[in-house]
Amino acid sequence: MEKFKVVVWCESCQDDEEGCFGGSAEVIGEAFESWEAAAKAGAQYCGELPYRYRIEQDDPD
Ligand SMILES: [Zn+2]
Repeated sequence: MEKFKVVVWCESCQDDEEGCFGGSAEVIGEAFESWEAAAKAGAQYCGELPYRYRIEQDDPD
């Protein structure tokens, strides 16, 4: 079954090793059953923060 994961990063800290997520990106939470559930979790996580997120398919292969 397809799973989805949420990758978040901070717009303000990209490439800043001292910044959020070490200036990189991070997968949050668990794998989600649907794209919608992943998008909701991503939106909630980012909230008012200068974070961006993208949904990736978690390919088990
Ligand atoms: Zn930041």
